[in-house]
Amino acid sequence: MTTRKKAVPEAAFSPEELEQFRQRLLAERQRIEGTMKSSRSNLANRGPRENIEETGSEDFIHSVDLSMMAKGSETLQLIDDALNNIRKGTFGICQDCGKRIGAARLEIRPYARYCIDCKSARESQNSPRRHA
Ligand SMILES: [Zn+2]
Repeated sequence: MTTRKKAVPEAAFSPEELEQFRQRLLAERQRIEGTMKSSRSNLANRGPRENIEETGSEDFIHSVDLSMMAKGSETLQLIDDALNNIRKGTFGICQDCGKRIGAARLEIRPYARYCIDCKSARESQNSPRRHA
């Protein structure tokens, strides 16, 4: 798999554009890693669970931190996938229908995996209650 030309549907992005996306993905990854690190130390610094019953809100903060970290690592995974796709030349291709993801969408979410159509189809299928 070294000499074969990659079969990209169309010339999706120029090398310069890809480099810009790459930089943005790396910056986003750093930001998330920073956030997760501070969440983790928040969790660590909170000490034993003794006082938690009294305050109640501690539990809330705790679960916010936890869900943020879960979401963070999810996004990190997406970012790594996107970086891989940049290397493989498949960046910006919808993983469901194989069409190109709109540039406007990638501007907002450079690690998007699906085009807007597949994304909204998935959302209405999987979690009808969520309107993210
Ligand atoms: Zn699609």
